[in-house]
Amino acid sequence: MSEDKIYDVAVLGGGPGGYTAAFRAADLGLSVCLIEQAGNLGGTCLNVGCIPSKTLLHGAAVIEEAAEIEKYGISFPKPEIDVDKLRDRKNQVVGQLTGGLDQLCKARKIDRVTGFGVFKDKGSIAVRSGEDERTIRFAHAVIATGSYPFRIPGLPEDERIWDSTDGLEIKSIPKRFLIIGGGIIGLEMAQIYHALGSEITIVEMMEHLIPPADKDLVQPLFLKLKKRYSIYTSTKVTKIESGKNGITASFEGKKAPEQAEFDAVLVAVGRRPSTEGWGRENIGLDLDERGFVPVDKQMRTIAGNIFAIGDVVGNPMLAHKASHEGKVAAEVIAGKKSAFEAMTIPSVAYTSPEIAWMGMTEKEAKEKGIEYKLGKFPWGASGRALSADGASGTTKVLFDSESGRIIGAGICGLNAGELIHEAVLALEMGADFEDISLTVHAHPTLAETFAFAAEIVDGSITDIM
Ligand code: FAD
Repeated sequence: MSEDKIYDVAVLGGGPGGYTAAFRAADLGLSVCLIEQAGNLGGTCLNVGCIPSKTLLHGAAVIEEAAEIEKYGISFPKPEIDVDKLRDRKNQVVGQLTGGLDQLCKARKIDRVTGFGVFKDKGSIAVRSGEDERTIRFAHAVIATGSYPFRIPGLPEDERIWDSTDGLEIKSIPKRFLIIGGGIIGLEMAQIYHALGSEITIVEMMEHLIPPADKDLVQPLFLKLKKRYSIYTSTKVTKIESGKNGITASFEGKKAPEQAEFDAVLVAVGRRPSTEGWGRENIGLDLDERGFVPVDKQMRTIAGNIFAIGDVVGNPMLAHKASHEGKVAAEVIAGKKSAFEAMTIPSVAYTSPEIAWMGMTEKEAKEKGIEYKLGKFPWGASGRALSADGASGTTKVLFDSESGRIIGAGICGLNAGELIHEAVLALEMGADFEDISLTVHAHPTLAETFAFAAEIVDGSITDIM
């Protein structure tokens, strides 16, 4: 790699946004340099996010299923859990995927540079690795620096206070485990540690768990979890103090105790975009009012030849948003007429039961004064759900009253994260309730519940129980 070379594209950050942009740009014939500070590509998602959490959740689901399977006439002895093996399995899955990315980079002749990149100006990035520094020159750049866990200000320095990255390391199994934040990450962690033997307490400031989703959608999950965990909603943590025998948390909320002691605390109250340290000021980029790098629909920043994608440009902070934006940036740089115009970005909590939603929630529709028709199908009436022990699930679909077109959907239950994509496609294609109810769905499937919800709206089923 010569320092005089001017790359068509330099990508800063090798997460799902960055590596997707790099791959697409190389596939379109551009010369690409991919700069990543970590040894592994894959960013948060592959190394300390989506993939390790889902691998551990799968292990937790197996433990949970084994414990509940007696009703089918099958019994196992109490599971013996080998945490080292579970961690090895997680590391093996992560290693396989990050290794795969290395191969894909090589196959595309992308130059990988390991080190921390800082923009010097609108045509070069200084990359530091230990004592070494080199300069990468570019015609276009893509900022894909991602995000990091938000740390509540004023928390004591204590190795028993974790963020999600610490939690995924499974270094120890705390007996009394406080999770601050009842969102997706907090609940997924709770499920993993509960299966491994922790007593879980969850504190959520908002009125219900997973606040962006509708309350009634989350209710079956809440009812299940409240039998296993102590859950305090509408509750604030006001103080955290380190002690010899544990960490004392003080709470403010109707049902919460004033104080309680824990062996570890996980802070899962959201993430912050990584906007500092990489020379934003040297390329003239300001942040928007929420602290993100502003971009247009082509993912272009105000710097013109510099694009930005993924968690650093806005919510929702999700891997599939980052990778789609990465593709758009690469295509625009290659001269294609591309834009990020997704009608919706689905969200999934990989809890048991799963919660997935897309488009408009019912709460949002009410707030915006949108007239809608609601089809809500309880899974207690689904043969497939009953046979798979998923009767508590629900599928709800919102249709615009005037046009009849789908505007939003939410699913709570087994495989909700897979099922939601039928609704996403329906929204993208402008389907109405008739399109959905007249589409023949295989029986017995969980996907049928989506068609049944539409049939409720078109009046072709009324008696569902
Ligand atoms: P990142 O993946 O954060 O990658 C940014 C990369 O840039 C990092 O590798 C970083 O080292 C590198 N970098 C930053 N600055 C520099 C610099 N100056 N020089 C060199 N390198 C730099 N999303 C989902 O869609 N589904 C899930 O199930 C899911 N689960 C999650 C679970 C957890 C516990 C967490 C924490 C997150 C989860 N997410 C999930 C979110 C998802 O991981 C992120 O939305 C996604 O990784 C964002 O991709 P990105 O490319 O924008 O940034």
